Amino acid sequence: MASEDEISLLVIVVDVNPIWWGQQLPLSSCVQFTLSKCLDAVMVMGNSHMAMSRTNKLAVIASHCQDSHFLYPSKSWKAGDDGADDASSSGDGKYELLSVANNLIAEEIRNVMSKTEVRGNSTDTLLAGTLAKALCCILSMKKELQIILHLFYLCCTEQVIKAAEDCALQYMNFMNVIFAAQKQNILIDACVLDSNSGLLQQACDITGGLYLKIPQQVALAQYLLWVFLPDSEQRSQLVLPPPAHVDYRAACFCHRNLIEIGYVCSVCLSIFCNFSPICTTCETAFKIQLPQMVKPKKKKLKQTT
Ligand SMILES: [Zn+2]
Ligand SMILES: [Zn+2]
Repeated sequence: MASEDEISLLVIVVDVNPIWWGQQLPLSSCVQFTLSKCLDAVMVMGNSHMAMSRTNKLAVIASHCQDSHFLYPSKSWKAGDDGADDASSSGDGKYELLSVANNLIAEEIRNVMSKTEVRGNSTDTLLAGTLAKALCCILSMKKELQIILHLFYLCCTEQVIKAAEDCALQYMNFMNVIFAAQKQNILIDACVLDSNSGLLQQACDITGGLYLKIPQQVALAQYLLWVFLPDSEQRSQLVLPPPAHVDYRAACFCHRNLIEIGYVCSVCLSIFCNFSPICTTCETAFKIQLPQMVKPKKKKLKQTT
């Protein structure tokens, strides 16, 4: 347990990609797993985190198609007054901060889902951008006090690597975010609802977090409380689901194929399955000598291992 002067900040990122959630509706008629049920589970987790210690802090971010929004704390709520004089607090003896947080999250998600429209043909969730935002939120708080950090990503859609045009760009941004998080000792956990995500597996593995693809969506709240709520100290004493096998192959930027050996641009670290004299990502032109003249030190391209 955290001591009194330690602050534990939990940032929950929820993938609210309307296309994926829309597809869930007709599939299972009897046991429907909807976005509102998912958010209920997230609120349970957030409430539990805040209830565990007075100093615990929470942030919830919704990751949309080309955008991300803070659900809590939101702009409409002034930090500092802690919702103490909020009229919405009920008289049922519930901890006011929890009901304020829940009301805000519900209100903000309604705004987000009704106002944001899917523009263009890119339907990928803005994963990298949202994680970067979460990281900025964490780092801005880290300046203030000693803090235990915990970034949690609840992901539903099949992420990156496939098909969308901007995914090569996302891949780079994503890896930058992950290494930044690793450097700052920020734990990244991921809970995946649908298909496995190689990038998130890598993110969790690099930062020492947990990656879990939950077998039953309706039991989400239980998984969140049991697996993800405990901090890394407590986790060592729990019997948790076995770690997932991490696929460390990277996708080439030219065809999005997963490759084991490829060419890496020495400037921007883009990965290609075939040699090309100009990096398509950063447009660096490589001065290539004839193969027999090339000395290992002067190589502009190096092979990944
Ligand atoms: Zn390729
Ligand atoms: Zn490059």
